[in-house]
Amino acid sequence: MQALPWKIKLLSLFVLGFTSFDPAFAGGPDLVTDFEKSGGKASPAYPEVMEYLKRLDAASPWVRVETFGRSPEGRDEPVVIVDRHGRFTPAKAHSGENVVVLVQAGIHSGEIDGQDAGLMLIRAMAVEKTLAPLLDHVTLLFIPMYNIDGHERRSAYNRPNQNGPEIQGFRATAVNLNLNRDYVKADCPETRSWLDLFNKWQPDFFVDCHVTDGADYQYVVTYSAEQWASTDSSVAAWTSNRYLKQLTPRMAEGGFPIVPYVNFRATNEAKSGIEAGPATPRFSTGYCALRDRPALLIETHMLKDYATRVKGTYAMLQHTLAVINSEHAALRDVIAAADARAAALEKKEIPLAFEVDHTDSVMIDFLGVDYSWGKSDITGDKWVHFTKTPRTMKIPYFGKQTVTATAVVPAAYIIPAAWTVVIDRLVAHGIKFTRLDKAVTMDVATYRFSNAKWAAKPFEGHHEVTFDQTPITEKMTFPPGSVVVDTAQPLARLIVNLLEPAAPDALVRWDYMDSCFEQKEYFENYAMEDVIRKMLADDPKLVADFKAAKADTSLANHPDKIRRWFYERSPWYEKTAGLYPIGRIVDRSVLQTLPLHQGRS
Ligand SMILES: [Zn+2]
Repeated sequence: MQALPWKIKLLSLFVLGFTSFDPAFAGGPDLVTDFEKSGGKASPAYPEVMEYLKRLDAASPWVRVETFGRSPEGRDEPVVIVDRHGRFTPAKAHSGENVVVLVQAGIHSGEIDGQDAGLMLIRAMAVEKTLAPLLDHVTLLFIPMYNIDGHERRSAYNRPNQNGPEIQGFRATAVNLNLNRDYVKADCPETRSWLDLFNKWQPDFFVDCHVTDGADYQYVVTYSAEQWASTDSSVAAWTSNRYLKQLTPRMAEGGFPIVPYVNFRATNEAKSGIEAGPATPRFSTGYCALRDRPALLIETHMLKDYATRVKGTYAMLQHTLAVINSEHAALRDVIAAADARAAALEKKEIPLAFEVDHTDSVMIDFLGVDYSWGKSDITGDKWVHFTKTPRTMKIPYFGKQTVTATAVVPAAYIIPAAWTVVIDRLVAHGIKFTRLDKAVTMDVATYRFSNAKWAAKPFEGHHEVTFDQTPITEKMTFPPGSVVVDTAQPLARLIVNLLEPAAPDALVRWDYMDSCFEQKEYFENYAMEDVIRKMLADDPKLVADFKAAKADTSLANHPDKIRRWFYERSPWYEKTAGLYPIGRIVDRSVLQTLPLHQGRS
């Protein structure tokens, strides 16, 4: 139960705070933020944020500032740990009844509202103590500027649609990669540091702060909370039935009504309705969902002024922490049960890919604005005109999905030792595995690929690949050092999503494994003629088979296909071309027969 007085104090914060601050109230002049000093118009650069963090650390025994990595351009990545009992290590934080909440700002550095909201919120909790009860059952980890090199690519012209701050950071890293597409592929050093932090701290709840583009409407704050079949069913149920049910009225009462992330079915057309569903694990929230942790995406609205957006983010963080405090015991139970269930997914069919179900919707009240469509006399394109007239509209909300790909969870995956590009990522994600001490040849379930096609343009430094896959059983040899990943572990859902080719963000789809699609040795056509003649002379059954196959005129009329037909039946056929090199061990008893290295590799 939360005491009433802090709510009253909170109200005074909104009256006094931000644009007409009271230095005494704000914990002393040293702790007035640069955002407040600017009258809510500006957001500080890296050196100023680092200086502020030092002062915050010095001002409260409940705050410790650490670094969790170093950016490629050489900047230390700060994380602020806030705990009212000074439990500043993962073991201590998890030793009592607390839940650990990770909040990050600035993964897209231009969308920096969370940084300035978070600094003031920590001050209110740990220095002013007006919001100290928010730390009763929560240990907070706060990353103020995750994409730190992008944060320092400062310009007034980084975010074309966005109404402040005056100078903003840039969306991508110093090598032009988007960290919020990098969660599965883990290409960036920043992602590696983040994964280390996450593996070490095992947060129980994750928040990612952004600013959205898109249509105009009344809401300052929109959100997406992972509550679909991509995550554990109890985590999803807790998120919808406990967390969001309490958060939504609190936000409305606080002057910031919220609505699910505004992704209209038709662009800029509110009446077409809002579509919602799980983020794929390239995104931070989709990634956390696969680790069975509740994950919240905050998206403030680009057209609202900066001070208003920071206030909205502040409210969202504050009410989220309040709900988590009152729910801390339930959340701990839900997560413990989810981890146990994830470690027992073997033989279960789990969903990997989803599509919005347009046959199933509910009507919601949407706080929109009047709009109309015209035509641009310059481009000739249709042009939406949003007015300033608020309009509450009844619109459909499509929050259900159909599942478009699934996989049955095997007992284990086995990965040849040489596929280091895959094994390296398992390590980064904190997935446990063992290795073979000796070579093993055995039948495994796997897939044969066909019709592989690569995207013409790069996306996040990769040419994504699509293909058809046929499940097969194949005799394969796995050398010593090959990796055996038992799915009986809490990260099973993540393992399956990394290694099953049908998963939308599977590593093989990011082009890491393109060489498995390639054939390396070739016949000369004239040499193949001799081979074909010898094969036919030696094997009467092959003569009959070929005769039957020629009934297909697309074969009979195509010399390359005829040569291919024989090649695939010859001992030279390169079976590894188009073969997925990772095996599925379906039968758990097989694991007992493998020469596994004792202990973790
Ligand atoms: Zn963003």
